Amino acid sequence: MEEKINLKELNIREGDTGDFISHNVDNCTGCGKCVLICPANLWRLEKGKSILASDYKDRCMECAACESICDYNAISFMFPKGGTGIKYMHG
Ligand code: SF4
Ligand code: SF4
Repeated sequence: MEEKINLKELNIREGDTGDFISHNVDNCTGCGKCVLICPANLWRLEKGKSILASDYKDRCMECAACESICDYNAISFMFPKGGTGIKYMHG
């Protein structure tokens, strides 16, 4: 799928974030809201559950929209530790 935003022109990434998003598959109903809202297309549906892209640490915008929109507490987002992760070039 085509990227909704040209990520490469917006940011650089620094350091090792470690994992900062976790997905509780047992709570996931497959409603698809995370798929629709993620600006980086990092979620997809498969067999009635959502799946987070394995390379999300390299592409995530750290917007936390996926956690906010999930009505079933299936997504947990924590900002990466200071000095790591996305660094916006504009704004
Ligand atoms: S928004 Fe939550 S319940 Fe819905 S598909 Fe995504 S993780 Fe699953
Ligand atoms: S934090 Fe934002 S960019 Fe990252 S996976 Fe969630 S919705 Fe997508």
